[in-house]
Amino acid sequence: MKEIREERTLVFLKPDGVQRALIGEVLRRLERAGLKVIGMKMVRPGRQLLERHYPSDEGFLRTLGGKTKDAFATYGMDVKRETGTDDPLEIGRQVRGWLIDYVSSGPVAAFVLEGIHAITAVRKLVGDTLPYRAAPGTIRGDFSIDSPTVANLMKRPVRNLIHASGSVEEAALEIPLWFNERELYEYERADQRAMFG
Ligand code: ATP
Ligand code: MG
Repeated sequence: MKEIREERTLVFLKPDGVQRALIGEVLRRLERAGLKVIGMKMVRPGRQLLERHYPSDEGFLRTLGGKTKDAFATYGMDVKRETGTDDPLEIGRQVRGWLIDYVSSGPVAAFVLEGIHAITAVRKLVGDTLPYRAAPGTIRGDFSIDSPTVANLMKRPVRNLIHASGSVEEAALEIPLWFNERELYEYERADQRAMFG
């Protein structure tokens, strides 16, 4: 039989998730779906860590800026008046700055989760980036209705409670930033066989 590769993914509750006492609720949802917690800690992340977590490479900034620009356009808001520019790269830089300020503003609860298709599975349970349109039943959809309409006018990131790695590449980059090897544990879940044979 072909070996089935398990994936690891980095999740953290952002300051809004911690302050709203949602650590247990979120973990309950992820664990009950079959994901295994192999690392966990509470930490107030410094700017240095976040500068690396939210990279300043053009690709990431352009995507972030593009999405923000689209959000302004959707609601008929003048992106240039609000942010001083209509260049996606520059807007991306601004949103990244808001994000780093926000996520470093208080403690976060970080986890490494392991499982088959862990990255996709966690993103499904987390839901859309923008909570107002995240599906009911997802973490963001059930616990927030925040939207870029308010966030961008207030010059803050969308408060969407939780971060989860978006791809295998992101996970590979993010996990070692937050956890060293000794902080990750191997063990077998007692229900493993019932779930996967
Ligand atoms: P995360 O990386 O936090 O799990 P994501 O992958 O769903 O979220 P990204 O595109 O990576 O979304 O954006 C990173 C973060 O930037 C979002 O979680 C959100 O807090 C913030 N953000 C994204 N788009 C906007 C926007 N249009 N306005 C304000 N903040 C935004
Ligand atoms: Mg992301």
